Amino acid sequence: MRINLDRLLMDIEKYAAYGKNEQGGVTRPSFSPADHEVRQLFIEEIKELGLEVTIDGAANIWGKYKGTGKNPGSIVIGSHLDSVPNGGKYDGPLGVLMAKEIVKRLIELNIRLDHDIEIVSFTAEESNDFNLSTFGSRSFVGRITAEMLQDACDSKGARLSDELKKVNGGLDKFALMMDMHSDKKAFIELHIEQGQRLESANIPMAVINSVVGTYRSTVKVIGQSNHSGTTMMEHRKDALTASSEMILAVERYCQGQGNVVGTVGKLTISPNAANIIPGQVDFILEVRAEKSVTIQRAVEAIQEVLQEIAARREVEIQQEVFLDQKPVVLDQDIVSSLVETAREMNEPCLILPSMAVHDAAHMASVTKSAMVFVKSIEGKSHCPEEYSLPEDIEKAGNFILQGIINLDRTLYRTEYSLPINKTK
Ligand SMILES: [Zn+2]
Repeated sequence: MRINLDRLLMDIEKYAAYGKNEQGGVTRPSFSPADHEVRQLFIEEIKELGLEVTIDGAANIWGKYKGTGKNPGSIVIGSHLDSVPNGGKYDGPLGVLMAKEIVKRLIELNIRLDHDIEIVSFTAEESNDFNLSTFGSRSFVGRITAEMLQDACDSKGARLSDELKKVNGGLDKFALMMDMHSDKKAFIELHIEQGQRLESANIPMAVINSVVGTYRSTVKVIGQSNHSGTTMMEHRKDALTASSEMILAVERYCQGQGNVVGTVGKLTISPNAANIIPGQVDFILEVRAEKSVTIQRAVEAIQEVLQEIAARREVEIQQEVFLDQKPVVLDQDIVSSLVETAREMNEPCLILPSMAVHDAAHMASVTKSAMVFVKSIEGKSHCPEEYSLPEDIEKAGNFILQGIINLDRTLYRTEYSLPINKTK
């Protein structure tokens, strides 16, 4: 059984025209005019397919292809249609449009499964002007409540509650989303890898069995500002050279481990003048890994080096942890079922953790969830150069199509092992 690749590729191009910018990228944040248009298009298209369309409180779009009714509830496939500013064509839309293509094929082949098959497009997955990434899935599972959003506004003062109304969502419909959980029996999200692990291994796709945890802290390094001409080298307490050494130490530690990534991506220097020795540097330290214990070990090791550098260079450090998101274990039954499908189809696939958070990480708290990654070329994403090869996309599509057919047969056996906030 195969998807129609040409049709899917044309669909990807068609959707990429909404929010297309001069740099050749796509700028389509949720609630923007381009997003309004693309939602309209998507809703019309899935209605035309005969799907039962529901728009929930968070304005997530659901389209149901009814099954035989032999097994209750639905197997959900999908992702998101919003993009970062000047993003690419694949991050998000690939998963949603593939879901549409798969349902189209089932309809064309006159196949009805025992579960309903449902397509979903989550609202505002990317970080946005409301400062709410993975907004749709977090709201759906109840991690964001209507009370928390009562006063939410973007930088121009637009109220989220009003923006939701414009796209048929609404805070008043938030509570109803909780009643929708029991109907969702499984969720599979297809996404581009946004890294280079698949390309390095020369393998087109991977089944994702966990989502890494993320730790972030602010680090304030306090030295002493002074005249850059009159202060001799031995008399300086330069906060920037001390910070530089710290940042290199983070890199060195993570390079030596292989199972953890560490980044300093934000840095503020003050007073930030050519003739003044930097007196203070504020940076954000981020550490991500598949297991909590790995993150903890990395943070402790990095702390030790930071303290040593601070003492030697006679600067002070103050730190505050502002994010400690635990890793999420995805559903091992779905992962095994997908891996078995790949084996059956003789398609090589890796089993990997996701190094970024996706909607599936939140959906995992209410239903059995897993992901499939397709190889990204040169690991590029969130830019116009984002690309995946048509042959890899086709393989991933055929794989998921067969995967849900297999899952439809085996899911009922595992349905009663409910996921309860599993963390690693
Ligand atoms: Zn995405």
